[in-house]
Amino acid sequence: MAFPITRLRRLRRTAELRNLVTETRLTPDSFVYPMFVCPGEGVRKEIGSMPGVSNLSVDEAVKEAEQVHALGIPSVILFGLPEKKDEVATGAWADDGIVQQAARALKREVPGLILMGDVCLCEYMSHGHCGIVKASPQSLGAAAMDVLNPVHGIVAAKTEEEKTSAINAAAAAAVRAAESNYEIVNDASLELLARTSVSLAKAGIDIIAPSDMMDGRVAAIRKALDDAGLINTPILSYAAKFASGFYGPFREAADSTPQFGDRRSYQMDSANIREAMREIELDIEEGADMIMVKPAMPYLDVIAAAHARFDLPLAAYQVSGEYAMIEAAARNNWIDRERVMMESLLSIRRAGASIILTYHAKDAAKFLA
Ligand SMILES: [Zn+2]
Repeated sequence: MAFPITRLRRLRRTAELRNLVTETRLTPDSFVYPMFVCPGEGVRKEIGSMPGVSNLSVDEAVKEAEQVHALGIPSVILFGLPEKKDEVATGAWADDGIVQQAARALKREVPGLILMGDVCLCEYMSHGHCGIVKASPQSLGAAAMDVLNPVHGIVAAKTEEEKTSAINAAAAAAVRAAESNYEIVNDASLELLARTSVSLAKAGIDIIAPSDMMDGRVAAIRKALDDAGLINTPILSYAAKFASGFYGPFREAADSTPQFGDRRSYQMDSANIREAMREIELDIEEGADMIMVKPAMPYLDVIAAAHARFDLPLAAYQVSGEYAMIEAAARNNWIDRERVMMESLLSIRRAGASIILTYHAKDAAKFLA
């Protein structure tokens, strides 16, 4: 039945009618708010390229989390800025690491809030890469074996001295790597990622969210969690994480810019959607409970394809660059901030993500209230 019998504008006439027939609804229940925790007390340091988002000391993070929870947002995801960085990301897996401290405080002070823990090594590595770095003049397999030894040494270290010497050995390997061809070693990095995950879960993190893009990390983390008796801790895997220019402001926020090279040898090529499906499929086989696509807006087709193909809960991360673009344009009065913010979130939901990680979570929740 075509025009004039059919007139689609009939159902657009009033706000009430439009609301009745809306296909996609946003609620704060689907939001996750990212937070950057740093050492100190009373620290609230705004990130220049992300107005409204700050590095927070643990006490300030508690205040922030209370606000977030009161707005009806069910979850936060924590990133850490450690006191110091080294070549084996000690700050990621140490029991007194910054995120571990924050997790304990948040569990105690805001018990109803779901705590997600981003699991990666870049924020804790002096070179800023997501895994262990190794010079690779020889075959890749041999390089992987060389770097495993210092890592085993660190894990097995009984005394401070043994630990220090193992860390120094790894540091020397990383310096050589920076000066020559280097490789981000996959299998040795898994050990540290698994160790980090167990440490975070023990500190009170409810959901482990690995974002490193090493092969096999979901299986390694699942096994380590299970071996530690943490059988009920779910894994939200950053399954399809693309090497993206939209991460720029985050690197300021988390102080995690790689000191040399880039992340293209482990994060995905923006051009590949079929490979993204393989990445997701593998993570599901390895035991992921939920999957994520990151960034969100430039990859809505990937979100839609993942939604059509997989039945796991699907998350999307609206990243720092997406946030920064909206904020910067709004500050120039080039766009209507609220309208574009809500439209961008709606597009991510419409594409099929049921969970949205976004720096706009608080303002969007206020708008929806
Ligand atoms: Zn990383």
